[in-house]
Amino acid sequence: MKLSFRLAAAFVAFVVLGSLALVLWLGFEERRQLREQFAAMARTNAEFIRAQNLPPTERTARSLGEVLGLDVIFANDDRGEDLVDPRNETGTSLRHGLAKYTIGDTGRVNFSGDIEAVAQPIGEHRHLVLIRPRTQGFFTVNLRTLAILAAFWALSLALASALARGIVRPLRALAARLPHISEETKDHIPETTRADEIGQLARAYAETRAQLSAERQAREQAERLAALGKMATGLAHEINNPVAAIKLHAQLMESDTGVSPVPTVATTGDPQTSNDPSPSHAGHRRDARATFAERLGIILAESAKIESLVSQWMFLARPQPPQTSPCDFTEILTATVRALAPAAQHANVQIFNEVPPGCIAAADRRRLSQAITNVITNAIHAMSARGGVLTVRSRARESAGAVAKDSTPRSHEHGYDITFTDTGPGFSATALASATDLFFTEKEGGMGIGLNVAAGILKAHGGELRIANAPGGGAVVKFILPAAS
Ligand code: ADP
Repeated sequence: MKLSFRLAAAFVAFVVLGSLALVLWLGFEERRQLREQFAAMARTNAEFIRAQNLPPTERTARSLGEVLGLDVIFANDDRGEDLVDPRNETGTSLRHGLAKYTIGDTGRVNFSGDIEAVAQPIGEHRHLVLIRPRTQGFFTVNLRTLAILAAFWALSLALASALARGIVRPLRALAARLPHISEETKDHIPETTRADEIGQLARAYAETRAQLSAERQAREQAERLAALGKMATGLAHEINNPVAAIKLHAQLMESDTGVSPVPTVATTGDPQTSNDPSPSHAGHRRDARATFAERLGIILAESAKIESLVSQWMFLARPQPPQTSPCDFTEILTATVRALAPAAQHANVQIFNEVPPGCIAAADRRRLSQAITNVITNAIHAMSARGGVLTVRSRARESAGAVAKDSTPRSHEHGYDITFTDTGPGFSATALASATDLFFTEKEGGMGIGLNVAAGILKAHGGELRIANAPGGGAVVKFILPAAS
């Protein structure tokens, strides 16, 4: 059964019972008031008789009866006295009715029959008794009763409409939304602002809808990534073989000619930092051998860049657990910085490695080197316009949140905070919020995978990557790396 029907049925029952109770109560009240008026009338007349010193005779009773329009008698307070019919014409009914009277302390005369009477003392053992037909029936339907009933019905109607507006309609609206909870919609649910249970229900609905939406987005993202991963792995195989061949032939050319390649910088996608090996730049003074050595260097550097890119794709497509062994982080860092030295030199960036030896971490050497490469490459890109300084420091971390005061590694420490601080422009506000998201990039030609891969590598090592801006304005990338147990 519908909620509205249930509520309506309960409400109709309430109105009917309420009206009945109201009519009964009004009738009872009216009878009580009439009785009070009757008693007051008896009191006033008794006082009048006493004041006027009227004789309690049958004649006085009759005259008073005529004035009041009631039967009036004078009675002794003896119990059970046969009262005399004051008019001698009402026959036996009155006599019968009053035959067994008692006068109560309140002046009420109690007896059986369909008449009621009140008595008031007017002298010693003498009472004035007023008699009238008993007020009949429980229901008194008069104008006052009807007006009160109408007010009650109007109030009930207002209550019913408030109930419908406050409970039934919002519940109905929520019930109507429920089948569409999984649909992508951001429309506002007005009931969420309510403080009652309907508000709770609406908020729970809105939260569930948001969760479902987030889950759907995550699923779609995962599906896209899975498809991309498939494509990337296929592409990686296709790329790896020709790159390996290019590298091999470059190395063969090196051994055939005996010319050592000049260490050079791979292109970054940023036109400002790309090398121009054209003879005009290389200078006419250079001889053919030097140009050959430079070009060989470029071929090897670009091949290495493609290899690194492919390896990052593979990591994104099929992240596998790292193959860890206790490694000295400083060694990995030093080797990586050395490999990136030409690029840093080219961008006029100085790299200061202040990490002391002995930071032993359970690490996958190749992956950690990849993460460091990504972060240093970003710093070099960020400072390529004017040059700058990149400083790498480490601090021992005793436990989560606790960091040793000095930077000297100790045997009982639980990990390291390694910070890469550059003097570039720092992260933009958007980058601060999303730089580690996959495909987030603000660089022309950027792919937006560098920091994401670095963060993934740190996470796979049980650590974390955090980004911030230094008070002076440069970017700070922090590696939180657990120590080798
Ligand atoms: P990409 O380098 O391809 O853009 P990344 O994931 O490496 O992708 O970097 C994402 C973004 O983070 C960059 O586009 C840049 O806006 C910001 N970023 C990263 N490192 C730095 C840095 N050292 N200084 C300023 N911004 C940075």
